[in-house]
Amino acid sequence: ESFHDVDMGEIIMGNITLSRYSRPTPVQKHAIPIIKSKRDLMACAQTGSGKTAAFLLPVLSQIYTEGPGKALQAVKFAYRSRVRPCVVYGGADIGQQIRDLEKGCHLLVATPGRLVDMMERGKIGLDCCNYLVLDEADRMLDMGFEPQIRRIVEQDTMPPKGLRQTMMFSATFPKEIQILARDFLDEYIFLAV
Ligand code: AMP
Repeated sequence: ESFHDVDMGEIIMGNITLSRYSRPTPVQKHAIPIIKSKRDLMACAQTGSGKTAAFLLPVLSQIYTEGPGKALQAVKFAYRSRVRPCVVYGGADIGQQIRDLEKGCHLLVATPGRLVDMMERGKIGLDCCNYLVLDEADRMLDMGFEPQIRRIVEQDTMPPKGLRQTMMFSATFPKEIQILARDFLDEYIFLAV
C-alpha cells in the first residue's frame, strides 16, 4: 500500500512526501483510483479518515495535468503546481474573497451560503466546473443547506452530470443523501470504509 500505486504526477507526489504522508488511509486507497478513472463516487467515510486528501489529491492531479483545516490542505498540495486554490466561506470579509477570486481560481473551496451569495453577485460562474465535490453532505443537510446546494448544483451554467465528475462524501447514508446521490451523480460507485 503506497501512494505510488497511482501516478498523480511528479509535483503532487512530491507534495505528498513533503507533507509526510507515508501511506494512504483506507478511504484514500480505494477512492483515489476510482476518482482517477473518472467515475462518479458516493463515499461514506468519517471525518478524520483522510477523506479530504482522498478527493483533493486526484482532483488536483487532474486539474494539474489537464490545465496548467481543508483549504489549508488545498494550498499545501497545490504548492509549486501553478493550480490556484481559492477559499470562500461565510462570516469573513467578502470583499477580500472577491479580490482573491479575481486573481484567478482553478480550485474553489466554498461553503454553500457564501457560494450562492457570490453567484448572485455575479462573481462566480460555474460553467467551467469539471469536478464537483460535495463534502460532509449529511452535515450540510442537517444544517439546512439543501436549498443552497440544489441552487448551486442545478444552476443553468453548471455542466450537467455526465459532463462533470461528481463526488459526494458523507459519514452516513440516510434517505435524503441517497436522493441527492441519485440526482447529482452519474452511474456512481458506492464506497463505504
Ligand atoms: P480528514 O479526514 O480529511 O479530515 O483528515 C484528517 C487528518 O489526517 C488531516 O489533518 C490530514 O492532514 C491527515 N491525513 C490525511 N491523510 C493522511 C495520510 N495518508 N497520512 C497521514 N496523515 C493524513
